[in-house]
Amino acid sequence: MTLSFESAAQRVDELHTLLHKYNVEYYVNDAPSVTDSEYDRLLRELQNIEAEYPSLKTADSPSQKVGAQPLSAFEQVTHNVPMLSLDNAFNAEELTAFTKRVADRLKNDNELSFSCEPKLDGLAVSIIYENGVLIQAATRGDGLVGENITENVRTIANVPLKLSDATYALPQRLEVRGEVFMTKSGFDSLNESQKRTGGKVFANPRNAAAGSLRQLDSRITAKRPLRFYAYSLGEVSSDLNLPDKHSERLHLLNRFGLPLCPEVSVAEGARGCLDYYEEIAQQRIALPYDIDGVVFKIDDIALQERLGFVARAPRWAIAQKFPAQEEITQLVDVEFQV
Ligand code: NAD
Repeated sequence: MTLSFESAAQRVDELHTLLHKYNVEYYVNDAPSVTDSEYDRLLRELQNIEAEYPSLKTADSPSQKVGAQPLSAFEQVTHNVPMLSLDNAFNAEELTAFTKRVADRLKNDNELSFSCEPKLDGLAVSIIYENGVLIQAATRGDGLVGENITENVRTIANVPLKLSDATYALPQRLEVRGEVFMTKSGFDSLNESQKRTGGKVFANPRNAAAGSLRQLDSRITAKRPLRFYAYSLGEVSSDLNLPDKHSERLHLLNRFGLPLCPEVSVAEGARGCLDYYEEIAQQRIALPYDIDGVVFKIDDIALQERLGFVARAPRWAIAQKFPAQEEITQLVDVEFQV
């Protein structure tokens, strides 16, 4: 049903207030009070109203923003290359519409190749290596400014403190981006020990990972079973000769010693993406980590560059989310010591 302009403006105000509140709960306090599917539903409602009444789309709209401002308790880090979000597709039709949209925009009649990646349910981090040595790590924050969590990231078992240069000369500067998450088994054993010692139990692996990583005392982070998988590059110095495919860049990161998600693969066209989605959806329960969908990225970097970005997300990628399942996870308070 189409709303009148007045009713739409009033609903936009309500949605701004609600989504802002949920963003702070989720990104700043690591303690959401509503499920992700409820959040996604409200954001989609806002986007639909904005599409109908473009004058209601303001620069401060939650539809235009990434995450939330970093906590002042941490030192702040500016991202030279912004850390953006992803557009979402909630079903096969929306995914097919995305592949058609990008092909039309590129005036491309050939089948496009996509890097297909599980959408890990943790939190995005940027890690900077200078001459192969880890010198800084930060959260995404609001996309432009994040929190300095270098000491905490240093404690993550599979994050190399020094890159290996067996096959390639190490670049002067390399920014790796990826997800910090907690495996399902790590999450279970953490909660067991929290119960035993009278600590607070965590609602789900995502909250446990976020609460563990954003600690002011890195000795606490060191005791938490966090893991990292790399999924993209940020700022890279020109002394590194980068491959022209995203998937090949991921393998280059792997040769430097950075861990990749084993389920990453390349598919052709919408059909290939949908098959990959089905395959991952079937494996989902058995995977050792939580995911909330899959991400498809145009593999050819030159095509990515031609497509560019909109306010909060690249035009060349999309996250196909799993349908809202019974979200039985209790949204309990999580331990958070700031
Ligand atoms: P997003 O989760 O839709 O997509 C971007 C994020 O995906 C990246 O920042 C990265 O952390 C992650 N990601 C995982 N695997 C990736 C891969 N292979 N390649 C690239 N990125 C990958 O966007 P968002 O802005 O982080 O969060 C929005 C989502 O968070 C919402 O859709 C909602 O589900 C949830 N959320 C929930 C609440 C709540 O109150 N429950 C509040 C805010 C956000």
